[in-house]
Amino acid sequence: MSSRHDKEKAVNVQVLLRCRPFSDDELRSNAPQVITCNDYQREVAVTQSIAGKQIDRVFTFDKVFGPTSKQKDLYDQAIIPIVNEVLEGFNCTIFAYGQTGTGKTYTMEGECRRAKSGPKGQLPADAGVIPRAVKQIFDTLERQNTEYSVKVTFLELYNEEITDLLAPEEISKVVLEDRQKKPLPLMEDGKGGVLVRGLEEEIVTNAGEIFSLLERGSAKRRTAETLLNKQSSRSHSLFSITIHIKEATPEGEELIKCGKLNLVDLAGSENISRSGAKEGRAREAGEINKSLLTLGRVITALVEHSGHVPYRDSKLTRLLRDSLGGRTKTCIIATVSPSVHCLEETLSTLDYAHRAK
Ligand code: ADP
Ligand code: MG
Repeated sequence: MSSRHDKEKAVNVQVLLRCRPFSDDELRSNAPQVITCNDYQREVAVTQSIAGKQIDRVFTFDKVFGPTSKQKDLYDQAIIPIVNEVLEGFNCTIFAYGQTGTGKTYTMEGECRRAKSGPKGQLPADAGVIPRAVKQIFDTLERQNTEYSVKVTFLELYNEEITDLLAPEEISKVVLEDRQKKPLPLMEDGKGGVLVRGLEEEIVTNAGEIFSLLERGSAKRRTAETLLNKQSSRSHSLFSITIHIKEATPEGEELIKCGKLNLVDLAGSENISRSGAKEGRAREAGEINKSLLTLGRVITALVEHSGHVPYRDSKLTRLLRDSLGGRTKTCIIATVSPSVHCLEETLSTLDYAHRAK
């Protein structure tokens, strides 16, 4: 009887697991492999040696992409339907979650630079989720022969403070330090969402323009990193694409569909477990904790349909509030290394990701 109700209650959180191949260093050190992926069964087995005994723990996910999987496999199998939702006028969010060095940025961005210079309409095999999504969006919009607009924002969240990665000014230490003193404020927009005051919103008319923006923002992130002596492993980046599509109803009325795609490269998950180890890092680790931990709680609350969803407890979840829960789709790509040296972090990533299921 209540099928409609059930549908409304259905949670659209999908959790994928991706294991990268061994790195050259890991190969050189002959690091034993402790992760075995069974893509077909959607299972990951972790082999641990406890008190001389080999113990396997098996985790199941919505999809599993083992070390030989390609960027295209992940995109075609998991992301295309999400981007289609965005083109239908819904808000969706894709997160990359995992220990530093396990492939979050590779999965989200891959080789964007070459995406731009490649032959028209073709992406390099290494292109990640963002360039592929951008291509799918413009290919679809251009085919549809309707009026549309596409806007992009790109920001970084570090220490619960927001920096605009698209702001046009020169990047210097002074500017950056000044900005850290006056981070962009987050305000309620009165419609249940939030807006970041002063955040640059770029209107783009083709895929190439988005690639340039992405590159500009990423370069800025790297410069800021060097000038301020910090590491991107401790900051979150949020790349958002908002699409408005004008449609005519059969009655000749005009309708505007609005969808948003958020692409989030999260801070390294090791920041959760190794918090506050050293004096000066304590606050920073705590603040990074805040967004990562709150994100976990928000997703658990959504999956379990518990009444209270603690969006307000961190900047990241406030920023994403209109794109998490309700009629939205969320995809978490958890990334791990196959090596024994990462075992402890791998287990905590698997636990975190599994809890979101
Ligand atoms: P993170 O952003 O999680 O710190 P990176 O994306 O920078 O990690 O990846 C670390 C290194 O591993 C990079 O050199 C990257 O090119 C490589 N890498 C990560 N995932 C893969 C993969 N699935 N296939 C091939 N190389 C990968
Ligand atoms: Mg990275």
